[in-house]
Amino acid sequence: MNGDRILIAGAGPVGLSAAAYLTRAGIPVTIFEAEAQLPENLRASTFHPPTLDMLAPYGATKSLIDQGLVAPKFQFRGRDEGCLAEFDFSLLRDETAHPFRVQCEQFKLNHLLHAWLLAQGGAEIHFNHAITGLRQDDDGVTAEVMTPDGEESFDGRWLIGAEGANSVVRQALDIPFEGFTWDERFLVVSTPFDFATAMPDLTHVNYFADPAQWFFLLKVPGLWRTMFPTKASETEAEIFDPDRIEARMQWAHAKPGTYEHCHTTLYRVHQRVAKHYRRGRAFIAGDAAHINNPLGGMGMNGGIHDAFNLAEKLTAVWHGERPESHLALYEAQRHPIALDYVNTHTIRNKQNLEASTPEGQRAFRDFLAEVSADPNKTRDYLRRTAMIASLAEAARITA
Ligand SMILES: Cc1cc2nc3c(=O)[nH]c(=O)nc-3n(C[C@H](O)[C@H](O)[C@H](O)COP(=O)(O)OP(=O)(O)OC[C@H]3O[C@@H](n4cnc5c(N)ncnc54)[C@H](O)[C@@H]3O)c2cc1C
Repeated sequence: MNGDRILIAGAGPVGLSAAAYLTRAGIPVTIFEAEAQLPENLRASTFHPPTLDMLAPYGATKSLIDQGLVAPKFQFRGRDEGCLAEFDFSLLRDETAHPFRVQCEQFKLNHLLHAWLLAQGGAEIHFNHAITGLRQDDDGVTAEVMTPDGEESFDGRWLIGAEGANSVVRQALDIPFEGFTWDERFLVVSTPFDFATAMPDLTHVNYFADPAQWFFLLKVPGLWRTMFPTKASETEAEIFDPDRIEARMQWAHAKPGTYEHCHTTLYRVHQRVAKHYRRGRAFIAGDAAHINNPLGGMGMNGGIHDAFNLAEKLTAVWHGERPESHLALYEAQRHPIALDYVNTHTIRNKQNLEASTPEGQRAFRDFLAEVSADPNKTRDYLRRTAMIASLAEAARITA
């Protein structure tokens, strides 16, 4: 294999997005994916407006819209109070070609980008190839990879570690993953029951603030996904007990008969940001670099924004349009966003929904009323939740 290429560990949404950008720029890439095929686990379901803008040149946005649901609005609700506030992304139509969220499972994006890469040719994608370590010097980087035929080495000019939260690249680079893990885990239950028949004013994205047990209801094609926090003291056997799951669903909406469940998955939830995003010729991006709670749908979206930011800089340096020092801007721009923006925003989202004191609940409702009443504040809030503000903030950092 010719070593003048960019190596990418992980064929998740972040690795594949970086590969698509680099391939379109005429740069050879090699992707290593540990699994035998693209994983189909149920995680992200929300694509934000700027992410849709970025993915459009690869045909992925149109296909996500075709396979998913367009969600122009989202709501905060109280279980007994109904809608507390509704926000409409169409207010941002002058800032994005896609003034809405798309609700679609993230693995569908992976399939779309993989198919696009195969159609282009140029990118090498190796399944059953797990990166286990790396070496680097002034001339290049070597990935050590466990293949079906044993350990092999692959050379490249640069390496992107996009292999998720347990990133081997991050660990090999000895970069601390600073932050904390929440005591409670989050339970996701999918059901074909159509909550909109019971609550006709629901949008496709609804966050329910509740002092006893907050939850969300998100619609994806054919299903509603509910998510609940569990108690730190609950065992897995208790959490997955069908009667307890039913009780949680009935808490979300009491209805006659029992709920049909399609998937039940339990997630440990973290707020962590890597101390650095680069050492020498190796970079980290996406969950390898930052993980946060899913309230606001910012993890995958932020990771895709990392991928495009880094790929754009690698392209400029590869084609000799910028000096190698330009690559420092990736960490300078994206690290503060993960730390001060995504982390802060998702923690605040959780605290707002779970506020248990009367003062805390009132403060959140006052905040929603204040933002809704003022068009400038509504726009600012929408720009932040749609992640347009974080991209603008990163672009302002020039050194
Ligand atoms: C319940 C839940 C809901 C979520 N909802 C949203 C949402 O709505 N919006 C949002 O933006 N985010 C959401 N997220 C977060 C989102 O799922 C992640 O941020 C996203 O998957 C990160 O993408 P990634 O490509 O960095 O990593 P991953 O998706 O984890 O992909 C990493 C890939 O690397 C592979 N791999 C692992 N180790 C190796 C190795 N050693 N060598 C080679 N390959 C390797 C893996 O098999 C995998 O294919 C949610 C998460 C959860 C848990």
